[in-house]
Amino acid sequence: MSSPLLSADPRRAFLADQALLGPAIKRVLQSGWYVLGQECSTFEAAFASYVGVSGCLGTSSGMDALELGLRALGLDKGDEVVVPALTSSACATAVVRAGGVPVFADVNPETLTIDPRSISNVITSRTKVLMAVHLYGHPCDMDRLLELADTHNVSIIEDCAQSHGAQWRDKPVGSFGDVAAFSFYPTKNLAALGDGGALVSDDPDLTDRANVLPQYGWRERQVSAEVGMNSRLDELQAAVLSERLSLLDERNDRRRQIAERYRAGLEGWSGALPSEHRPARSVYHQYVIRSVHRDRLGDHLPKASIAPTILYPVPLHLQDAFFGYPRAESLEVSEIATQTLLCLPAFPELLDEEVDTVVRAIHGFSERY
Ligand SMILES: *Cc1c(COP(=O)(O)O)cnc(C)c1O
Repeated sequence: MSSPLLSADPRRAFLADQALLGPAIKRVLQSGWYVLGQECSTFEAAFASYVGVSGCLGTSSGMDALELGLRALGLDKGDEVVVPALTSSACATAVVRAGGVPVFADVNPETLTIDPRSISNVITSRTKVLMAVHLYGHPCDMDRLLELADTHNVSIIEDCAQSHGAQWRDKPVGSFGDVAAFSFYPTKNLAALGDGGALVSDDPDLTDRANVLPQYGWRERQVSAEVGMNSRLDELQAAVLSERLSLLDERNDRRRQIAERYRAGLEGWSGALPSEHRPARSVYHQYVIRSVHRDRLGDHLPKASIAPTILYPVPLHLQDAFFGYPRAESLEVSEIATQTLLCLPAFPELLDEEVDTVVRAIHGFSERY
């Protein structure tokens, strides 16, 4: 084998799509218009319609989309936002940047998404928002989260950075919360060739409120109505995303096939495999296995030219930046997950033979101990 099998491989994604992307990129280069133009509005409309909501705003990144969403929800200084302890540090960073206080809840041991029971334990009168992170492509239990939000009169922001096209009860994620944030980072299920993100909402008031922030808080040109950001989706990325949006469902289907091939191949293996819990439909952004021998397995696989990753190596409450924020008494599931999980190569361009190579390497390892 030439280059190692990565857990995500943007280069292979580009090679697969270059016949579509080349002309789109050239079209933008020749247009002379590179920021906030037709490509961006066209993509925003198409993506809102894909998610099944009325409004979409392109941003420079997924983290900006989270901050923008929280600010649109009217987060005040000191308002608490419940965040899972197992997720990207972008989640808690966005809360702090928006003026809020992250409060860490544990995740469910089977789906590794935020655990509604743990949320109940940390909700206070200061809680303003619940962050539903559909981790690894698997939707959170939206029935329970919507129920909790209703009971406690709090808002929901969905983090769909890993779950473009995933569904709960046959409805796309991003259409359940008051607002939802997406990332188009090059390894995500819907990927740009650089940074990009989007905020979506079905509430025109929220989209309106968010709309002034990405461009310095301008309501009219060159006049700031409030202190905003510079967070725009550029025309090149928007054109790339429009082309790739048309392939998203087919690519997600391929991810599901790969997950099924891993499941069948790894049946009987000593560790834990990811599973899909109905009515969730996962889009397997990552294929995450768990084993008490994770560290040794992680050292063994590169010898077979396989380069797995660990998302995430440290839960948020144990990271220096977030030390001391409120937290659930027990965050044990998140802590154990960070010590046992491993993300196997899983992207649509991965070949069946390559999946089989990974499966053989894992079985080979198990037999040696
Ligand atoms: C990637 C990711 C983000 C951040 O997105 P960026 O575009 O890199 O800012 C936030 N949350 C989750 C769950 C992610 O996977």
